[in-house]
Amino acid sequence: MLVDDNDTRRDGSASRDTAWHARSAASAAQEMGVDGAQGLSEAEAAARLARHGPNRLSERPGKPAWRRFAAQLGQPLVLVLLAAGAITAALGETVDAGVIFGVVLVNALIGYWQEAKAEGALAALARSVTTPVTVRRDGHRRQLDAGQLVPGDIVMLAAGDRIPADLRLLLQHELHTDDSLLTGESQPVGKHARALPADTVLAERANMAWAGSTVVMGQGSGLVVATGDATETGRIAGLIAAAPELVTPLTRKMARFSNWLLWAIAALAGLTFAVGLARGETGFDMFMAAVALAVGAIPEGLPAAVTVTLAIGVARMARRRAIIRHLPAVETLGSTTVICSDKTGTLTENAMTVRVLWCAGEGYALGGQGYAPSGDIRHDEMPATVAGAVRECLVAGALCNDASLRQEHGRWLITGDPTEAALLVAARKGGEDEHALRARHPRRNELPFDAGRQYMATAHGDDAACVLYVKGALEKLLPQCVDRLAADGTGRQPLDAPAVERAAQAYAEQGMRLLLIARRTLATADQLSDASIAGLTLIGLAGMIDPPRKAVVGAIRNCHSAGIRVKMITGDHAVTALAIARQIGIDAGRALTGRELAALDDGQLAEAALGTDVFARVEPEQKLRLVRALQGRGEVVAMTGDGVNDGPALKQADIGVAMGLAGTEVAKEAAAMVLTDDNFASIEAAVEEGRGVWDNLVKFITWTLPTNFGEGLVIVVAILFGATLPITPLQILWINMTTAVLLGLPLAFEPIERGIMHRPPRRLDQPVLDAALIRRIVLVALLLLAGSFGLFLRELGQGHSLAEARTVAVNVFVMVEAAYLFNCRSLSQAFWKQGLFSNPWIWAGIGAMLALQMALTYLPFMNALFQTAPIGSEEWLSILAISVLSSLLIGLEKALAMRRP
Ligand code: ADP
Ligand code: MG
Repeated sequence: MLVDDNDTRRDGSASRDTAWHARSAASAAQEMGVDGAQGLSEAEAAARLARHGPNRLSERPGKPAWRRFAAQLGQPLVLVLLAAGAITAALGETVDAGVIFGVVLVNALIGYWQEAKAEGALAALARSVTTPVTVRRDGHRRQLDAGQLVPGDIVMLAAGDRIPADLRLLLQHELHTDDSLLTGESQPVGKHARALPADTVLAERANMAWAGSTVVMGQGSGLVVATGDATETGRIAGLIAAAPELVTPLTRKMARFSNWLLWAIAALAGLTFAVGLARGETGFDMFMAAVALAVGAIPEGLPAAVTVTLAIGVARMARRRAIIRHLPAVETLGSTTVICSDKTGTLTENAMTVRVLWCAGEGYALGGQGYAPSGDIRHDEMPATVAGAVRECLVAGALCNDASLRQEHGRWLITGDPTEAALLVAARKGGEDEHALRARHPRRNELPFDAGRQYMATAHGDDAACVLYVKGALEKLLPQCVDRLAADGTGRQPLDAPAVERAAQAYAEQGMRLLLIARRTLATADQLSDASIAGLTLIGLAGMIDPPRKAVVGAIRNCHSAGIRVKMITGDHAVTALAIARQIGIDAGRALTGRELAALDDGQLAEAALGTDVFARVEPEQKLRLVRALQGRGEVVAMTGDGVNDGPALKQADIGVAMGLAGTEVAKEAAAMVLTDDNFASIEAAVEEGRGVWDNLVKFITWTLPTNFGEGLVIVVAILFGATLPITPLQILWINMTTAVLLGLPLAFEPIERGIMHRPPRRLDQPVLDAALIRRIVLVALLLLAGSFGLFLRELGQGHSLAEARTVAVNVFVMVEAAYLFNCRSLSQAFWKQGLFSNPWIWAGIGAMLALQMALTYLPFMNALFQTAPIGSEEWLSILAISVLSSLLIGLEKALAMRRP
């Protein structure tokens, strides 16, 4: 009967009252109403899920909408405008004040909407990275998303897992977890499954595993006793923040720049005010002029444009299979100078096929393709009889193995490590089925494979005849071998270690991944440790191929032409690594091994890290040193990783890249970016997008600053020369608010420029505002000044009204900005090379802008609000001529600037 266990658990008190740690594993399972060997039934799990809700911490409700809206109004620029509006209203200019307030409101609404959209998109991406867990249900192992866990589920744990809920451990082997999230203690804690006294404090309940902790090593299984907010972490942390951070180094830099600009402009406005007064203008007029100056010169579109451009970049990267977890990575990607990549699975397919066995001094070739277990085994071109040492080699490979094979719709699929699956396929080709073998020789104990250990061992049989099978890296195991199995599979012969190494060398040169397979007898299966790996009898070698990924060759070529070094870092054999490197276009003379690295001091290591492109037999811990050494030489480093031990290196790297498919939760959490297809080519794509994002930001800045500067200049010149303002403050507000959104923002959607991967990486410390940009700002501002002032004065001279002359000036501004937009679409090429229609947003923006200008010029109520007036076709022709001419002149300047080295 099911114990009605946890109806009360959601209030959070019941699971504390139930002292799970004080019960035996069996009684805990009974209390939870579950059979430990079977797990819950799917039906029961569904019922419990309905009762307890998904295993997720509630999101802290984001800031309420009105507060986020208020934050938009709190920006310095907006405060200036609000103050100006209030004073204008106090002076009795209600229409002007109304329009200023209206514009502020519209601007805040747009800003609010854009930010909400960007946040929503980032949050959705963050949620798209799910956490898979393995549970036992209905007697089978099943993979599901951690959100689906319910109290009573039996969860399997392995190194690198994030513990998905609070667990009472049932079984464990060398299980150690990092509980620092809960206890603050950073040392891994050894766990057991025995019952503890009821008064044991939380931090010492070693038979429990807490949600949010990570498995540092070992394996185990546990009973879910609390999920979601009812977990200990849920109670402490309570809620997780709903909204992601939108702040990056660049947005911070921009904010500082804007503030600085604000003060400079305020000072200039004050000066203008004083000069005007001295010239005998009224305080009111001069106040309005100072407001116009402030409004015109401040690039109010900048913060929103930066956020939107970054958000668009994140979305584009996601489409190319790179999920950004930390927004600043988008900026850094474009500056990457070195990519350190794993070999297996990232540069290669991780689709292993055993091609050769080398037993008792003889080589055997295996036929067939992929994971289909058909193909013959040949010796000297003749079909070989699978017996003796060859059979033992296959048996050992299949027993010291956690993978499984299955056929679905005619295709052979695997679960587990491809290296191990390949051994199962090989065994079946030799007529040995792993199910039968595993039933005949049940596993008694094991040392699981991990990248630091580089081998795996399993013990089989009873104490009277206990055999230990070992497979792993040649360098680790060959020194432990004392003899070798004779061809008959029972006798033993002296070991000729140099001959084994020669054979291994020959296979590795063909790019094969090698496993040494060995065995020994054990007195008992109970105590297994690294010390058990001694006195081994060599059974043989297995050599497997793992073809390079197809897209990788091109991606590496792109990286090289983009000035980015690609370095392979692998746990595999040096010769194998070099052979694969050669196949994919990493041209390395020699490989440095982990042992050689360990012997270098930090200075030598930095030299070696720069000069070498292939690192073999590297232990995960050494990756951290490599990253640091490269960074010490000013490199911007992207580093891939998937295992538990890769965390520190991923955090240290400028861009930590985790594998979405094969990676552990620990690696994903340490990384700034997660690849959904584990493919190196996706890193290269992300770098390309990162460069594109930066380009588009620079384009926006190149477009917006000169126009702001031009507007300010028009006011200053008018006051200095005592001329009538060619544009009123309201009209400047209008220009800024409409053009920033309609003309400027479309630049965020510019496609990546051709040749973007033929430039060297951008230096991280490169200033946004360089000499070329300043030159450009001055040129465009002068053109705007000459065009608007010139036509304004001509209109007045021809006897047109002030309203008409100002309407012409406003239209000059907008049209020149629209024409200049085309100059800004590419930083390096003439605009027509970009493809005129490659960014439809530009045209949509210009169309909308034109419509608004028509409204401003011809609609009576707009005329009344903005003091504009209809103008004639001759005026339009002049405006058009000026904008086309400006664009051509700027194009000329750009061409000249490009010619200069
Ligand atoms: P990489 O992923 O960089 O190719 P690994 O760390 O996975 O390297 O493997 C390093 C070495 O460990 C391999 O060359 C192989 O000899 C050995 N090895 C790999 N997988 C297993 C496994 N499942 N069992 C035993 N040994 C393995
Ligand atoms: Mg590996």
